[in-house]
Amino acid sequence: MRTIDHGQHQDIRDAVRALCAEFPPEYHRRVDEARGYPEAFVDALTRAGWMAALIPEAYGGSGLGLTEASVIMEEINRSGGNSGACHGQMYNMNTLVRHGSEAQRRHYLPRIAAGELRLQSMGVTEPTAGTDTTKIKTTAVRRGDRWVINGQKVWISRIQHSDLMILLARTTPLDQVAKKSEGLSIFLVDLHEARAKGMSVRPILNMVNHETNELFFDDLEIPAENLIGEEGQGFKYILTGLNAERALIAAECIGDGYWFIDKVTAYAKERTVFGRPIGQNQGVQFPIAESFIEVEAANLMRYEACRLYDAGEPCGAQANMAKYLAAKASWEAANACIQFHGGFGFAAEYDVERKFRETRLYQVAPISTNLILSYVAEHILGLPRSF
Ligand SMILES: Cc1cc2nc3c(=O)[nH]c(=O)nc-3n(C[C@H](O)[C@H](O)[C@H](O)COP(=O)(O)OP(=O)(O)OC[C@H]3O[C@@H](n4cnc5c(N)ncnc54)[C@H](O)[C@@H]3O)c2cc1C
Repeated sequence: MRTIDHGQHQDIRDAVRALCAEFPPEYHRRVDEARGYPEAFVDALTRAGWMAALIPEAYGGSGLGLTEASVIMEEINRSGGNSGACHGQMYNMNTLVRHGSEAQRRHYLPRIAAGELRLQSMGVTEPTAGTDTTKIKTTAVRRGDRWVINGQKVWISRIQHSDLMILLARTTPLDQVAKKSEGLSIFLVDLHEARAKGMSVRPILNMVNHETNELFFDDLEIPAENLIGEEGQGFKYILTGLNAERALIAAECIGDGYWFIDKVTAYAKERTVFGRPIGQNQGVQFPIAESFIEVEAANLMRYEACRLYDAGEPCGAQANMAKYLAAKASWEAANACIQFHGGFGFAAEYDVERKFRETRLYQVAPISTNLILSYVAEHILGLPRSF
């Protein structure tokens, strides 16, 4: 299938595709059925250097941009895998690269690039605040050369398969700041030390094989030097990571979209009912064609979001719109794919039901479609603030 980015970054695509081909659908199916973690796959990606794509060359990485990182994520999903197991490292990386101190970069980046450490987790969401992030209740209080953390997080991904987490906490109470987005700070948390010193973890089983957890902090002490950037500016820093995350998730949804379209197109050509291939019926063709158009259009916005991000320009609108369009397009493609597989769409061995569950997540997380619509209405169109 010829797509709009045909030929772009072909060297990266070919190399990632070749690696992914060593992990066929049966591999991802087995991991899903066992609710396991694709250790061998993530290790292979790390050894090949793909997980260090965004780490500058001076720190042992390959110094690529978000555009290239998004191509890597897209190809994983397009091959039938799920980047959700490892995409955290990509979007967390830039938070550390852009806002970390030189000492932090020197200490962590070469070890992450070498695969000795994984930076796969970001702790933002809380049970009571929900999407209203500035209302988070987790606090960090400076005590001598330590920060003391108390509070709770929910839905935090990959804690059991990561060594480090970027944590958002309030360092100045909400009623003492001029703007509610001030007084929040981000920290690098060593997850192994934290478990021994006041962080407890409760896994949350969910519809996708995506490791998520509730975290409880009870006087967790972390070294003062683990603060990233300036105290009180964490919300701004976390937004950099969130924009990268949205552009990467858009690319993953685009990979999913192409996977569903390839899969259903092949099936519709081959499955014969009433004496002709089901794909000869326009009732079958049109939803597939429609989702292909939408995936292609979303792809344009994804490249624009990545281009702006890599140029260091504001990209909040484009990253949000890319994520919205791509998640919608992959969901339409998933619906067409499951529908036209008939009963077989529900059989695990066809992989459609697994990918269907996986791509559904992106209507809700990491930001729900309503919140993107509200962002565009208020910040792009200038409509009155609704909340
Ligand atoms: C599998 C999974 C993995 C996750 N991983 C992480 C992670 O690693 N780190 C992390 O920090 N978080 C993570 N999350 C959390 C995720 O980012 C949130 O679930 C998501 O942002 C939605 O927040 P919420 O669940 O609190 O929903 P709420 O904020 O409670 O919203 C619920 C619903 O109400 C709608 N809504 C709320 N307010 C409005 C409004 N003003 N106007 C219109 N509609 C509104 C929303 O659109 C949403 O559909 C994960 C979630 C899942 C399911």
